[in-house]
Amino acid sequence: MQTQLPADFIATDRGRRANEILRSCVHCGFCNATCPTYQLSGDELDGPRGRIYLIKELFEGAQNPERVTQHLDRCLTCRACETTCPSGVAYGELADIARVEIGPQRTGVQGLLRRLLQWMVPHARRLRLLARVGKFVTFAMPRALAAQVPDNVTTGLASDTPGSKQVLVLQGCAQQVTTGQVNQGLQQLLGELDIGVLTAPKEGCCGSLDLHLGDEAATLRAVRNNVDAIHPLLTQIDAVISTASGCGVTLKDYGRLLAADPDYAKTGAEVAGATVDVSEYLTGLGHSLKAKFPGKRVAWHSPCSLQHGQQSEGLVEALLTGAGYELVPVPDAHLCCGSAGTYSVLQPQWSQQLRKAKLEALESAAPDIIATANVGCQTHLSHAANTRVMHWIELVS
Ligand code: SF4
Ligand code: SF4
Repeated sequence: MQTQLPADFIATDRGRRANEILRSCVHCGFCNATCPTYQLSGDELDGPRGRIYLIKELFEGAQNPERVTQHLDRCLTCRACETTCPSGVAYGELADIARVEIGPQRTGVQGLLRRLLQWMVPHARRLRLLARVGKFVTFAMPRALAAQVPDNVTTGLASDTPGSKQVLVLQGCAQQVTTGQVNQGLQQLLGELDIGVLTAPKEGCCGSLDLHLGDEAATLRAVRNNVDAIHPLLTQIDAVISTASGCGVTLKDYGRLLAADPDYAKTGAEVAGATVDVSEYLTGLGHSLKAKFPGKRVAWHSPCSLQHGQQSEGLVEALLTGAGYELVPVPDAHLCCGSAGTYSVLQPQWSQQLRKAKLEALESAAPDIIATANVGCQTHLSHAANTRVMHWIELVS
């Protein structure tokens, strides 16, 4: 694609990178075929190719930036388009750059929801308080936010455990409050393999929420905080393990996010290099896992952050089959469930349509359990599923 971005923008790291990505797109449109929002609206501007055009226009000084914002806000950042693109266009990175240029501010209800999400979700303590009192005040909340209040409140890992070697397990913000049993199960499973678990007491949000809302300053604050919390422990551990693929994909990107920061570029890249999804770590160990619910039929939903973001395919499926589960076929497995971080709150109608379609696909072969690998997908699907939705670690621990 030809571009005419302003010279002062191209002179910046962001502008140079945006220009490279834009120029790598050949406009073939293959990506539209796997874009969930294009499938919903049929509007070229709600597909990746159209959004890339809009982003180019934005950087070139678009006359109508509101139009760019509207269509970019409807993007799930699921990155299915990246998996499909034959030219390797880094759409997710381009969308992140565009969101920073647009900024996090919005007017009206969208602005209010965004501020509330940023104030609440990345802070486990506030989230826990909301989860405890939320059910009594849901009537006073915007409906999309009230739908997110969890039924049960869980806790994170209570203490570190010893072993012949150790790993650091990320606690996450939403995960420790809503599905703390996942990491507790993993800690027990690793203990049986004589692997100890450490936590980083000062770990905070991975930064993904602020990143997807286009708040660069808040993103970098969260990322630097985690590098400070995790990096000093790297010499004691085998790996940094994430059981929430949405957090894992962001930690793996810390090197890129901090590349321009002379104080954090090296340590950020080292934390990113040590981070693995739990499926990668357990596969590397080469131990077969034991089924907790032998004989059950499982529908596997690979989160976008795992299959597209981390480009991980087949690992969980192999571990579950090796444990003795029967995996049922799931049509359109590449499509997003509509959770997508804050999407279910900010774009509730499209999010619910995507969830309905995803649940029809997941439940089409009448499984006993739906398994996934990210807290967002797990809670989002649970709210509307007729089948029990669990993290796959809960099936082997
Ligand atoms: S598939 Fe890739 S190259 Fe083709 S239009 Fe989409 S992003 Fe551009
Ligand atoms: S990230 Fe997902 S929703 Fe956004 S353009 Fe790509 S495929 Fe479509």
